[in-house]
Amino acid sequence: MRASVDPDLCAGHGVCVVTCPGVFALTDDGYSEVTVEAVPADLAGLVRRAAGQCPERAIDLETDGGG
Ligand code: SF4
Repeated sequence: MRASVDPDLCAGHGVCVVTCPGVFALTDDGYSEVTVEAVPADLAGLVRRAAGQCPERAIDLETDGGG
């Protein structure tokens, strides 16, 4: 799975960073970015939760085949 944050939508609440710090981090500008190329399988559940919790729906998830 791949995750991405739409910088036009992200408002920097940091909900995703709190929910899944292994994948999301706040930049110096205060917005979220994805820190991994591919989401480790054991973090997939947390990433889905973070995407569902994002108030701006700025997190996009892409499953690579099968998943
Ligand atoms: S929860 Fe959404 S709006 Fe908030 S920092 Fe994360 S991606 Fe940005």
